Amino acid sequence: MADPYGFLKHDRADAKKRPADERLGDWGEVYLDLGADTRDKQVRTQASRCMDCGIPFCHSGSAGCPLGNLIPEWNDLVRRGDWGQASDRLHATNNFPEFTGRLCPAPCEAACVLAISHDGGGAVAIKRVEQAIADVSWEQGLVQPSQAQVTSGKRVAVVGSGPAGLAAAQQLTRAGHEVTVYERDDRLGGLLRYGIPEFKLEKKVLDRRLAQLRKEGTKFVTGCEVGVDLTVAELRSRFDAVVLAVGALRGRDDTSTPGRRLAGVHLAMDHLVPANRACEGDGPPAVDAAGKHVVIIGGGDTGADCYGTATRQGAASVVQLDQYPQPPSRRDDERSPWPVWPWILRTYPAHEEAGERKFAVAVEEFVGDEHGHVKQIRLRKVRVEKDASGRRAVVPTSEEVEVLPADLVLLAIGFEGVEHLPLLGGLGIELTARGTISCGSDWQTQAPGVFVCGDAHRGASLVVWAIAEGRSVAHAVDSFLTGSSDLPSPVIPN
Ligand code: SF4
Repeated sequence: MADPYGFLKHDRADAKKRPADERLGDWGEVYLDLGADTRDKQVRTQASRCMDCGIPFCHSGSAGCPLGNLIPEWNDLVRRGDWGQASDRLHATNNFPEFTGRLCPAPCEAACVLAISHDGGGAVAIKRVEQAIADVSWEQGLVQPSQAQVTSGKRVAVVGSGPAGLAAAQQLTRAGHEVTVYERDDRLGGLLRYGIPEFKLEKKVLDRRLAQLRKEGTKFVTGCEVGVDLTVAELRSRFDAVVLAVGALRGRDDTSTPGRRLAGVHLAMDHLVPANRACEGDGPPAVDAAGKHVVIIGGGDTGADCYGTATRQGAASVVQLDQYPQPPSRRDDERSPWPVWPWILRTYPAHEEAGERKFAVAVEEFVGDEHGHVKQIRLRKVRVEKDASGRRAVVPTSEEVEVLPADLVLLAIGFEGVEHLPLLGGLGIELTARGTISCGSDWQTQAPGVFVCGDAHRGASLVVWAIAEGRSVAHAVDSFLTGSSDLPSPVIPN
C-alpha cells in the first residue's frame, strides 16, 4: 500500500546533473553520481509520491508505458526499500531498464495522474526510479543470466542488434531456442552503440548487458551483412525463423535547398557514428566539429545528440535551428505543432551547456567558398502551417535574411525508413510507402517465417517501443515454432 499523502509531503525532484563545464570536459554521463546511499534515499522519497492509483494511467494504454511496466508496484517496493523485489518486478516487463531509464522520454510520466500538478511538471519521477532500480540491480548482483530449462531444437536468426533485436533474442533464448544475432557493424548494439552518444549512455552499460545475453546462450556474429556475407539461401537453410530488427536508418536529406552538395554538409549520422567510434578508441572522427562553426538543422533528439557531441568536440560555435516556434511550456501544448508530449519536451541537457538555439527559422541557402566548402548559411524567419491538403508547409514571414558562419552543417531532420538492404530483395520483401516493413497481426512479413520488429516495422521511434516490439515478436516466433507461447506480448503491430 502506497503512502497516500506522499505527493503532498514531497515535491518532484529530478536527478541532479554534473556542472555544465565539467560535462563539456569529458564524455561521461550527464547525471551526477551521488553515491549509493544518497541516491537510494532520494529515490525512495520520489517513489513515495506515487498514489498507487486505482487505474494507473502510467502503466499501459495508448499514452502510458508500451511495456506495461508495473510502475505503482515497484514505486511502492522502492519506497519500502525492497530493491530486490523491485528489480524482479521491473525485469518482469522490461529486458533492459538501464537503457529506458537513461534514454526513454518517459510517456509514463506524461500519463501520470500527478502530471496535472505543478503546471504539468508534478508527475512521479518514474524514469529516475526506474534507472535507480536498474543500477542497484547491477551493483548488488541481482542481474544474473537466466538459462532456459529445456531446449526446443529450433534455430532463430535475429538480424540487427539494436534494442528490438536484443530484446527478441533474449526472450527467444530464454524460451529455449538457439538464437544467433547478426550485426553488420564491427560491434554490437546498433543505434545504442553508434547512434546514442556516450554522455547519454556509457557503452559499459550496454556491454555488461550483452555479457549477460552471451552467458544465457545467445550467439552473436559481428561484421556480417545478412544477404551479402551470409546469403538468403544459407539463412533460410540454417534457421527455422528469422527476425528482422534492422532499424530505420535511412536519414532524411534536404535535396531542395541550394548548396546542399557543398563539402561540409552532412547527415547527422555521418557525425554521430564516427564520434561514437572515437569514444570506442577507433581514432579521430572523420567528421569532427573541433574548431568549427557548426549549424545543426532539426530540433529533435538526433539534433540534440549532434549538439552535445559538437560542443564536446570543441566546436567554435554551435547553433541549432528549428522550423517550429519555441514551445512555451508543457501545458501550453495547443500552440505546439508537435503531436503530444513527450515529443514536445524539446530541451535537452546539452542545451544547458553551450551553444545557441534559433526557432521558427529555415535555411534558404548553403553558401560555399571558392573550394566548394560550405562557409555560411542564409536563414529566413518562417512559420509552419498546413496547406489545403493538410500537409505541412513552411511559409516565410519576413524578407529579412540572417547569415550565419558555418564550416560544418548537420542535417538532423528525421529518418525516412529502412535502408534498401540486399537482404530485403532476397527475401522478396518490399517497403511500405512509409519506408517500413509491414507485417500481419502475428508480426510475420510477406516472407513466410520472417518476422519484423522495432523501428524497421514502426519507423524511427522510442527505445521503449523497440523493446516492447522485440518482446512481442518473440512471443509470435515462439508460437510459430512450437504452436503456443508463454512469453509476454505487450503490444500489437500498428
Ligand atoms: Fe503512481 Fe502516477 Fe502511476 Fe498513479 S499514474 S500509479 S501516481 S506513477
